[in-house]
Amino acid sequence: MRILLVEDEIRMASFIVRGLREEDYVVDVANDGEKALFQAEINPYDLIILDIMLPVKDGITVCRELRSKKINVPILMLTSKDRVRDKVLGLNSGADDYLAKPFAFEELIARISALLRRDKTDKTGIIKVADLELDQLRHAVTRAGNEIQLTSKEFALLEYLMLNATHVVTRTMISEHVWHEDFDSLTNVIDVYMNFLRNKIDKGHKKRLIHTIHGKGYVLKE
Ligand code: CA
Repeated sequence: MRILLVEDEIRMASFIVRGLREEDYVVDVANDGEKALFQAEINPYDLIILDIMLPVKDGITVCRELRSKKINVPILMLTSKDRVRDKVLGLNSGADDYLAKPFAFEELIARISALLRRDKTDKTGIIKVADLELDQLRHAVTRAGNEIQLTSKEFALLEYLMLNATHVVTRTMISEHVWHEDFDSLTNVIDVYMNFLRNKIDKGHKKRLIHTIHGKGYVLKE
């Protein structure tokens, strides 16, 4: 995932860049609004983090111009003040979400992943990985066109794996996101459900999609 960070304060920018790179995002930085527009037009970003107070062109203007050029990349706006007016302006100019400085880095990461997920699935509600399809609206799953019956817990688990496809998800992440609990005792439960899911998704198919990463967790990928 490639992110454009538009931020003129050097310390703030390097703090964000360092954190994002640790999370394995590819990050480019633009330090004024004009450069941001230029970068966003020539590179296919997955997300833009856009400060409002910027030299040359402010964030609101940049956001409006991007949208008027039909560049529909998700935009997360940053501002130093938690002002209702800025928030309204930002969202009206076409931003998808808004974060007030100062913020906790975890909060930024959470917003980013939510926006990236939404961008991947919101148009149709259908998530695809290879020949596996999950329809979030109909709660239906097919592999190679054949419908697969899942319990609601199996469905939630598969949906989480698919939203994070190609990324390793740990048992802790699964327990927090699928079970909404954080018990060590869930480890066995998760493994049991993962086996149920494997039997339904991968059994009888040449290409396995659910992989165990020893000592880490699971990954769903081709
Ligand atoms: Ca600024």
